Amino acid sequence: MTKYGCPIREGAARFPNEEALTFAGRSWTYGALDAEVNHWVAALEARGLGAGHRVALLATNHAACVFLFWALGRLGAVLAPLNARLTRAELAPLVEDVSPSLTLALGALRERLPGAEPLETFRSSAPSSTASALDENTARVILLTSGTTGRPKGALLTEGNFRASSRASAANLGAHPAPRWLGTLPLFHVGGLAMLTRTAYEGGCLVLHERFDAESTSRAIDEESVSHASLVATTLERVLDVRAGRRVPETFKLALIGGGPVPVPLLERARAVGLLALQTYGLTEACSQVATERPGDADGRTAGPAVPGTELRIVGGGGEVCGPGEEGDIEVRGPTVMAGYWQRPEATSEALRDGWLRTRDLGVLDSRGRLTVLSRRTDLIVRGGENIYPAEVEAVLANHPSVQESAVVGIRESRWGEVPVAFLALRAGQERPSDEALESWCRQSLAGFKLPTRFFWVDVLPRNAMGKLERTVLRKSAES
Ligand code: ATP
Repeated sequence: MTKYGCPIREGAARFPNEEALTFAGRSWTYGALDAEVNHWVAALEARGLGAGHRVALLATNHAACVFLFWALGRLGAVLAPLNARLTRAELAPLVEDVSPSLTLALGALRERLPGAEPLETFRSSAPSSTASALDENTARVILLTSGTTGRPKGALLTEGNFRASSRASAANLGAHPAPRWLGTLPLFHVGGLAMLTRTAYEGGCLVLHERFDAESTSRAIDEESVSHASLVATTLERVLDVRAGRRVPETFKLALIGGGPVPVPLLERARAVGLLALQTYGLTEACSQVATERPGDADGRTAGPAVPGTELRIVGGGGEVCGPGEEGDIEVRGPTVMAGYWQRPEATSEALRDGWLRTRDLGVLDSRGRLTVLSRRTDLIVRGGENIYPAEVEAVLANHPSVQESAVVGIRESRWGEVPVAFLALRAGQERPSDEALESWCRQSLAGFKLPTRFFWVDVLPRNAMGKLERTVLRKSAES
């Protein structure tokens, strides 16, 4: 089996003066990052950490998370990043499940994790040059999915998964010149970790931000020569708002937009100012990207074809593989698919069959193999036997001039079993339209059975740390 070394160590030998990381006004070359990681390896060794040991981490984005990630890799130890938005009560069972040898937390977050040591001062004053060789199957990360659909599960991602994901992304997007990737996604999610690993494997630089902020993102595009960024639909919209029509410089190559449905008018608005925004579809269990539009063949209407090395298929209700145009469950196979769920053999055999990952998302492929993601299976609304995909209704509502954003969820109802209702946020400076006006707006593009039966106005839609809609919260509030 192929053996892999640490990409930071290799970068330090080949291009020591190239920039590898920037954070909060500081910068590390590959040489400096390698030297820093050596101090973190020593600190881990001093605690007896070695291959297969787990370290739980509660932190918002910080350079120390990067040092820790590469130091753990040198020992063949595993990182279990925890969502920094969770409460003490929510975190306790996760930590217990992971049974870490060490827990670390950043700043005030320590209060939520009893026994956690401070991350920022963890490094040892003496360095260690230990660097074990890893193979495809070496566990690197236990990543708890964000839990929008119930009890979280820890996806076990390997060195092979991260390397394959990075190769696939580079083959699709082009790796040269090496990217300067803007990191605003949290490092406790796969989107953030994939940026961290991708830039290192490609000899690029991670421009890490503590959190997403529209002004800082816009500034990084103009002044920090970032070439790539990963955003979700709402954050892209906020960046475009603050740029107010200002074109992006040539240094900026493209943004990947995923994590949820992406409205086509938004991608078109981005392209109008020279910002190439590609739709991507991915999930934790497949180490981020599964399908991504090709830069030279992108119209935002689909999530593009499977990334190189990944197989994608649509499976119907009877288990048959569907042809182009037929809707069904999205399944994925290839080297980016997780090893399984940490200590959950039943959940693992439920999710993985013959190497195919059942994503629990519904989709359709076109004749050119491009994927349209219709809905998460659990978000599908079935009204008297008719399927309603929330994203389709949301896209129509979001096109209304008074609507800033919308969310459509199904609620139980005695006559039809389930009916759609809409939650809407008003666009600044606009008048709130009447329910009748909204209904006739929807009727122009949607069949009658898809029309929301009620419209609720809210200040903001509830979102999790990734900016994803918390549909369960909305469903509960509409049913109460
Ligand atoms: P959990 O699995 O715990 O409910 P989660 O779904 O947020 O949490 P992630 O792995 O972070 O977990 O997100 C992956 C999901 O995001 C996909 O399964 C899909 O439902 C959704 N998604 C990602 N990209 C797209 C896209 N382009 N269009 C529509 N949905 C998308």
